[in-house]
Amino acid sequence: MTETTTPLTRFAVPGRITVSEQAATVWQTATLTEIRHETPRAATFRLAVPGWAGHLPGQHLMLRLTAADGYAAQRHYSIASAPDDSGHIELTLDRVPDGEVSGWFHTVARPGDTVEVRGPLSGFFAWPGDRPALLLGAGSGVVPLMSMVRYHRARDLGVPLRMLVSARSPEELIYAAELGAETTPVFTRSAPPGVPVGRMTAAHVAPLLAEQPSHGWEAYVCGSNAFAEHASRLLVAAGQPVERIRIERFG
Ligand SMILES: Cc1cc2nc3c(=O)[nH]c(=O)nc-3n(C[C@H](O)[C@H](O)[C@H](O)COP(=O)(O)OP(=O)(O)OC[C@H]3O[C@@H](n4cnc5c(N)ncnc54)[C@H](O)[C@@H]3O)c2cc1C
Repeated sequence: MTETTTPLTRFAVPGRITVSEQAATVWQTATLTEIRHETPRAATFRLAVPGWAGHLPGQHLMLRLTAADGYAAQRHYSIASAPDDSGHIELTLDRVPDGEVSGWFHTVARPGDTVEVRGPLSGFFAWPGDRPALLLGAGSGVVPLMSMVRYHRARDLGVPLRMLVSARSPEELIYAAELGAETTPVFTRSAPPGVPVGRMTAAHVAPLLAEQPSHGWEAYVCGSNAFAEHASRLLVAAGQPVERIRIERFG
């Protein structure tokens, strides 16, 4: 649960703003190019952002919607896509009941619409791909973790990576078709035949910690406040050093 140096900041000259930090202060126009439905409540929105400065897996951005009368709403969203040179990024949004911004995306937004984005933000939750990563997520908390999984695959990285992801049911498991052997899903309300129903427990976490790759795991936890507390307690109880647990809370 610490803030550490990442490649974005490692070479920073004290007092001098870096290119990435500069980009993060500038609002850029993003054009919606594609909408993909992931689950009944979650969809992925692909955005063309020609001036995007690049990001590391795990980072998020600030998104702004502005109405004709000048009223603006801003929200943080994790970046779901792996870093690449396509000039596009992807966000996956849960539809929050009566949600101002997620509601607009799920009911109004169409390809060709524009929004504004500012980022990337937070080097703290970024995974540079250079250390074993143990990922624990719940609900849309899987979004920044999926960027890490996609990056791991795209770069064919040799470092171990494992993911535990909690969803209410198989239908609500975001990216289900894309998850591979690195992922263990946990279902809290209904599960396929033969799979137990219940919360993430020590029985899920302990075997992964027992694998102990050389140099140990860096743990990334993402989800609601309640999930973040629960998952980080499980990690500490299983022996994960507290200073090697990074938490992103969507609550
Ligand atoms: C760093 C960070 C990254 C995030 N990344 C993502 C992401 O990748 N995908 C994603 O879907 N969301 C993400 N969020 C949450 C996102 O920022 C918004 O809070 C969420 O989309 C709701 O905004 P809204 O405008 O739709 O709802 P609002 O109009 O802000 O809220 C409407 C109502 O819903 C309640 N509410 C607000 N948020 C939630 C919630 N998450 N769950 C349940 N009820 C809620 C509010 O209390 C209010 O009553 C992230 C948050 C943070 C801090």
